[in-house]
Amino acid sequence: MSMLQEAQICCPQCGQAAPFQLWETIQASQDPTARRRILDGTFFQFICPRCGASMPVHYTCLYHDPQRRQMVYLLAEEQEELARAIAQCRTTLRQEYQQQLAQYRTRIVTSGHSLREKLLIWDRGRDDRLVELCKLFLQTNLPKHRPDFQLEEAYYDWQDDVECLRLFSKEGQAALYPLDPLYQQLSPAFTPHLPPEDPAGFPLVDLAWAARQLESMTENDPR
Ligand SMILES: [Zn+2]
Repeated sequence: MSMLQEAQICCPQCGQAAPFQLWETIQASQDPTARRRILDGTFFQFICPRCGASMPVHYTCLYHDPQRRQMVYLLAEEQEELARAIAQCRTTLRQEYQQQLAQYRTRIVTSGHSLREKLLIWDRGRDDRLVELCKLFLQTNLPKHRPDFQLEEAYYDWQDDVECLRLFSKEGQAALYPLDPLYQQLSPAFTPHLPPEDPAGFPLVDLAWAARQLESMTENDPR
């Protein structure tokens, strides 16, 4: 069941307070509109009814889609508190949901942007772990071809119905990099080494996860 409460948000531009729905749990099959708004990027945006100004609202919530067997916990915590908060919420989630998580894909993310990204990736039948490895590959190799573009962040997205990685440089430039053929090239090398999905695991699959994965593969390589 979806659970939500209404909060009052003060517009950063005109100072007017306006209601904003804070969801504790988003149950995707009961609330397809919420899911659609996560995908179109408006779910975590406050738009002032008076002056039209918008701002992102960062808060903790649980995304649960029993139909697609997906559970993503969005943890909005300060960096210093993150490790402790992750350990704590993993324990709580396991206690509460372990019985119903068979064949689920579970993740922890730390932004609404990452939640959207995971759902988009899974909708296209891709593996978010391989997507993170693609980003890591680009971080290592892009400077050789584009020394002028210092990669700061990369996000999976679609552009004109083509899957791509949206790249942002340290200087704020944006660029698009097609997901294929890179994903197809990396997949056969990495897929056999990926750990099986553990529904009780709730991993945080990001660039740091990809770096650790690559490191453990290199260590285990007998050559
Ligand atoms: Zn306003």
